[in-house]
Amino acid sequence: MQDIINGILKFQRDAFPAREKLYKNLAAWQGPRTLFISCSDSRLVPELVTQQEPGEMFVIRNAGNIVPPYGSEAGGEVATVEYAVAALKVSDIVVCGHSNCGAMTAVANCTCMTDMPAVGHWLRYADSARFVNESRTHENAAAKADAMIRENVIAQLANLRTHPSVRLALKEGRVALHGWYYDIESGRVDAYDETTGSFVPLAAHANTRAAA
Ligand code: ZN
Repeated sequence: MQDIINGILKFQRDAFPAREKLYKNLAAWQGPRTLFISCSDSRLVPELVTQQEPGEMFVIRNAGNIVPPYGSEAGGEVATVEYAVAALKVSDIVVCGHSNCGAMTAVANCTCMTDMPAVGHWLRYADSARFVNESRTHENAAAKADAMIRENVIAQLANLRTHPSVRLALKEGRVALHGWYYDIESGRVDAYDETTGSFVPLAAHANTRAAA
């Protein structure tokens, strides 16, 4: 914990003064343009990967970058999506999975979750992705887990569309959906292209959208 406290002290001493004007400006309001939904994994840092400043992204993180479908439970994530779209009026929503995801590896390999019932329950929101992934042949367990990560991004984009605020925003053309796969080892980001049903490197296809 001492390294965290030292980090706070370093932030107050060095980083805060360097951005003092920005923090003063943000003291009483925020206007993020993007809702970024990613895994809680410590190796994927949304603001670092996207090079965004404070105030620029509204972020939800959880095990497996999952979005419960609307109506499943009035949980924190459903409320946070609604707030981002209806109140903050974000123009883009990104669902970002990542390589070597422990949650998706567990789902792909049907790992027994009897000792973690809450995790097991939560990961059932990835069942539609698991069913699709199971129907295909994979070279090995690692390839199956990697394919599961991508299928899960597609499934969570579908779950997002069940949210009334998201459907309305899509219908009115004021929000775009993005499905990303972040590779930890290389920093590469692949984006889901709904028109072809495939993931393409974002660097070469910057305008790729899952839905717009
Ligand atoms: Zn993960």
